[in-house]
Parts: sequence; C-alpha cells; structure tokens
Amino acid sequence: MTPTPPTAPVPDAGGGRRVPGAGPCILRAAHVHDGDVMHDDGRLALDGDRVLAVWSGPGLPPARSASTVVDGPGEGPAAAGEPSAGRALAARLAGAPVHDLGDVVLAPAPVDIHCHGAGGASFSEGPEAARHAAATLRAHGTAHVVASLVSEPVPVVERQVRALAPLVAEGVLAGLHLEGPWLAPDHRGAHDPAALCAPTPADVDRLLAAADGAPLMVTLAPELPGGLDAVRRLAEAGAVVGVGHTAADYGTTLEAIEAGATVATHLYNGCRRPTHRDPGPVLALLEGARAGLVTIETIADGVHLHPAVLRRTAAEAGRRWAMVSDAMAAACCADGDYRLGPLAVTVAGGVARIHGEGREPGAIAGSTVTLAGSVEHAVAAGIGLEQALRAVTAVPADALGLDLGRLRPGVRAQVLVTDLDGRAVHDPVMDPAW
Ligand SMILES: [Zn+2]
Repeated sequence: MTPTPPTAPVPDAGGGRRVPGAGPCILRAAHVHDGDVMHDDGRLALDGDRVLAVWSGPGLPPARSASTVVDGPGEGPAAAGEPSAGRALAARLAGAPVHDLGDVVLAPAPVDIHCHGAGGASFSEGPEAARHAAATLRAHGTAHVVASLVSEPVPVVERQVRALAPLVAEGVLAGLHLEGPWLAPDHRGAHDPAALCAPTPADVDRLLAAADGAPLMVTLAPELPGGLDAVRRLAEAGAVVGVGHTAADYGTTLEAIEAGATVATHLYNGCRRPTHRDPGPVLALLEGARAGLVTIETIADGVHLHPAVLRRTAAEAGRRWAMVSDAMAAACCADGDYRLGPLAVTVAGGVARIHGEGREPGAIAGSTVTLAGSVEHAVAAGIGLEQALRAVTAVPADALGLDLGRLRPGVRAQVLVTDLDGRAVHDPVMDPAW
C-alpha cells in the first residue's frame, strides 16, 4: 500500500486520464466531494470505471457510511449502512492498491443545465454541431450538458427539438432547454426580438410532443398573455419551468411558482430589477428558494454578476443555489466572431456581445465560461468550495430531475479534479472509461 506520486496513476492520455489496472482501487485526495458534501482526507474507491464508495479517513469505508452501498452478486443493491453490505465491500477492497493524488479535490464532473454551445458550435445548429459542442465541453470538464436553444419562431424550435431529442436518448445530451420564444421583449437580452411571442396551448403541446419524453426545461416570462397557463400545462406534462427574461412583478412571479415554476433562469440577468417598492421576480424567486420550491441559476463568469451579488445569492439560496454557464459557441475558443442563433456576436477579452447600433457593442450574449471555471470564480468571490462544487453537480441535476452529479455507488466515475482553491487541475476530468 505504498502511496504513488500524484501523477503516476493518471498519466495524461489526450481525451482523459486513466486510473490503472482492472479491479478495485482506492484514490486518496485531500478532499472528495460526493455531490452533496465534502469528505476531508477523502477516499474514492473504484472498480474499473464504477464508483464503489466515498468516505473520509484512512482504512476501509466504515460499515455505516451514507455513501456506501454494495451490489451483491445476484442481489439488488444493499441498503446503505447494512453491516453485511459493509463487510462485503471491505472484503472487496482488502488489499486494493491506494493511489495518493495529494493536495487535490475530487468531485463529480459538472452538470450544465443552461448552455448554448461550445467549441465554435451552437446547439441550435443541429445534431452534428451538438455532438461537437458536447465533446468539447466534456474535454473541458463538463461531463453532462442540457442543450439550450435560443428564441426562434415556434416551428423552427420544434424542428430543432425533434433533431436533438435522439441525442438525449443516446446520452450525448442530458436534456433540452428552450430559452424562449415566450420571453419579455423589454428583457430579451441577446434574443432576437422578431422571434418573441406569447405562448398558446397549441404551441406548448407542439413543443412538448417534439421533445418526445426527453428531459425538458422551458424558460418563459409568466406575465405574457397565457403565460401562467403555459407554466401549468408544462409542469403538468413533467417539464421544468424556469422564470426568466421577464418583466413579471412580485405577485405574478409568486403565481408562477404556485403554478409549478421551479427554476429561476440566470437570476438578475434579463429580468425586471428589484427596487424597494417593487421587489419584482428577484425577491419572489429567492423566497421560493428559501421555501425549497425554486432552484436559483446564476452565471458565475466574473462578468454577469458582481462577486458580492454572487456571494449573497449563494448564502440566501443555500442548497437551492446552482451555477450555469449560459455559454455560447465561443466557449473553449479564442476571441472572434460567432453566432448566437440568428444573431451575430463578437467575443473580445472572453466577453461575448451581440452587435448593437452602429459599431457599439450590444447586450452581453451569454458567457464563454465553463462550469469548472465557474467554481474558481465562486471561490474567488468568497463562497466555500463545498457549496461551489454542489452548485455545479447535485443541485443542477436535481433541478431537472436528472440522476447525475453525484459520486455514489454504481455510477460511472467521472471526476473533476481541482486544487484546494477550486482551480481545475490540468486536464480536469478523469474518466477511467475514456
Ligand atoms: Zn438568457
């Protein structure tokens, strides 16, 4: 059980890093985050590409560990904390090699539930572009992505959804997110004003049918004519509704939550601003988070929000605080000219803006950050690493009902590696299966 040097068990291998050999092994790191909590002096036991257990401290996993479950041969998974399960796991790990990775943090690879593209490709451009964007994101630490589509006329969105739904079934995408076209014109951000409209029951049903059962989130402005009905109809059909790009007042936003909206789409960005007599959607959504009804999305790229706003929001929303990239095609790329749906975008110094009047740069058009980068921004803003990692893993996964974002027994070990300040370590995702 001689600890090996940090780099020895995981040589760089281009598309990913490999842990050695077949059979069980134990990785030791300064901390292992399981998606919910941080295990100090952490251990992550693997069997091939599957997680066996996560625990704290030397030795074998305690028999009664919340993160310990064993699949017995021919049986279903044994419940956590059953002494027989603990004994079976101990027997499986006895003599397993221990690889000490040193002063690093291992966490589940991030789940991005709001992202428009990467690597020069947009999800709106169709399946081939979507595959390229998803692969680029994986290589930069985001193991799972929900493809966000910007506002276009409903028949166009319907075609895009039909084209991408098979990629969800295939596992390339974790789900689909329609950001519009049911958005408030005054808070459209980088959405094409010509595409915006109010939702009708027929259009809602059309887009639900196109998704063909894929996990679906829809961002809309509930104050539009038919908006609250659309929230109800979508939620009843099992879709997740985000309130965003909205001019809704406080009361209307509460009604939207009552009707089934469960996400605040990139809070603060693209919505009516709160004032002391007009708290607007922001305070209603934060109260929804406090009540355990709403998950708050924030964009942590150092551009969209002041660090104090990010910090205060994380404190306020607690376990309902998530980070999303809202990245567009230029993520993981150099500065230059790109497209966001039908709109032309220029990226300068990593900041994407649509083209405004004349030569003036217009509205911010999504970000170029990855969630691994967002963790670093959040920690720099004073948010604890445990909460920052939860906000890119279990919290966003739960918001969309996805069984992702946790290192729990039986799942594929897709791991983000950071230093103690949340900076992604070179080649940030370790996936033994790659
Ligand atoms: Zn947006």
